[in-house]
Amino acid sequence: MSRISRRSLLATTGMGILSGGLRRVLGAESTSDSPADKTPAESHKEPLDLAKYQPVSMLHLKETHVPRARYPVIDFHTHLTFSAHVVNGVSLGAERRITGQPEELLPIMERRNILALTNLTGGFAAGLQGTVAQYDKRFPTRFYTFTEPSYNLFQQSKYPQLQADAILAAHQSGARGLKILKTLGLSLREQTTTGNLVKVDDPRFDPMWEACAGLRMPVAIHVSDPLAFFTSTDRFNERYEELNNHPDWSYFRPGFPSNAEILEARNRVFARHPKTNFVALHVGNFAENLENVSQNLDRFPNMYVDIAARLNELGRQPRAAGKFFDKYQDRIVFGTDATPHGDKFPQQVFNDSLYEIYFRFLETDDEYFDYAPAPIPPQGRWKISGIDLPDGILHKVYNQNAARLLHVAAG
Ligand SMILES: [Zn+2]
Repeated sequence: MSRISRRSLLATTGMGILSGGLRRVLGAESTSDSPADKTPAESHKEPLDLAKYQPVSMLHLKETHVPRARYPVIDFHTHLTFSAHVVNGVSLGAERRITGQPEELLPIMERRNILALTNLTGGFAAGLQGTVAQYDKRFPTRFYTFTEPSYNLFQQSKYPQLQADAILAAHQSGARGLKILKTLGLSLREQTTTGNLVKVDDPRFDPMWEACAGLRMPVAIHVSDPLAFFTSTDRFNERYEELNNHPDWSYFRPGFPSNAEILEARNRVFARHPKTNFVALHVGNFAENLENVSQNLDRFPNMYVDIAARLNELGRQPRAAGKFFDKYQDRIVFGTDATPHGDKFPQQVFNDSLYEIYFRFLETDDEYFDYAPAPIPPQGRWKISGIDLPDGILHKVYNQNAARLLHVAAG
C-alpha cells in the first residue's frame, strides 16, 4: 500500500471512527454525524470509545535505540521515599514509605549510565535521617537526598524560625537541598489541612528560603500543574482522558487560584530571595509556554529548570525546545520524576524503557515516537520528536549543571 493510500485510508476510516467515538464519549451534541457524512466503510460500525482507541502509526521512520546516555547522568528528580502520613495533600509525619531499595535501582543505573539519583522526597527529622542512612551513606556519589518542609509544625507561632532551624538540622543530617511539593499553593491551608489556602509567597516561609541560601542548598520547587488542569474538563480539553480518570487532578474548581496566580506568587519568591537557587521543576511548571519560562529565566538569574515528566510538552514543539536548550544550556538539569514501581503513571515509572525515551529525545532527531512506555500516551494523545542536542549541551544537561547545584563532582 502506498503512503498516500494509507493516509487516505486513515482519513476515511480511523479518524472518522474516532470523531464519532469522541462525540459519544464526551457527550457532545452531534452536528455532522448524519448517515450522509459517512463512508461505506464506517456506516455499519459502532462508534469507538476513546479509551479503546490505540492507533498504530503507519509511518516508516528511523528508530534509534539509545540504551546508554552519552554522558553519565545525574537524575535530579526522583522519588525513592514518600511521606507515610498525608492528610488532604499535606504530609504531616516524619515516617517514610520506601518505593525502591538501592539494590534494585543500581543495576538499572549501571545499564543506563545513571551516575546518581536525587531523591527529592526525603522528608525531615528521623525520616530524613533514615533515608540518608539507607541511600546516601551506603552508596556515596550514587544517591543524594533532599529534605521537605515540616508542615506538622505549621500551627506553632514560631513556625518561621522553627522551619529555618529544621533546614539547618536537615543539612547536618546530610540533606543536599529542599523540595517543595505543589502542597504549597494548592493543599497547605491556614489550619494546615483546613481553612484558606496558604500562598506560595507567604512571608512565614522567608526564613526557610534564606536558610537554604546560607547553606547553599538548592530548592527544587514544584508549584501549579499542567495548564489543562486549570481549564474545564470537557471535549476541548487536551488532557481530557487523564482528568476524566482523575477528577481530583482538576483545579478548575471554586476556591483554587489560577495557574497564573500561582506562578506569579512563585516569581515573587524568586525575586525576594536572589541568593537562593531555585530549580523550577517540570520546565518551570509551564512547559506549554516556553516563551514565559524564558522570560522568567531572563528575569531571575537564581532560577533553573528540570525537564521531568514533560517530554510530552517539549517533544511536541521540538524546534522551540531545541532553541530553549541552546539558550539556557547552563540552567537546565536532567530529571524524570521517576518512581520505582510507579506503574500507574508510566510517564514517570523508574525502569529501563523510561530512561531510553529520555535519551532518545535528547540525543537523536528521531520523529514521532512515544514519550512514555505505555500503549496509550498518558499525558495527552500525541507523540514527540527528538531534539538532537550537540555534545556540549548534552554534557551540561546530563550532569554538569546538576553537579554545580549539588556541589558534587560532575561525570
Ligand atoms: Zn516529582
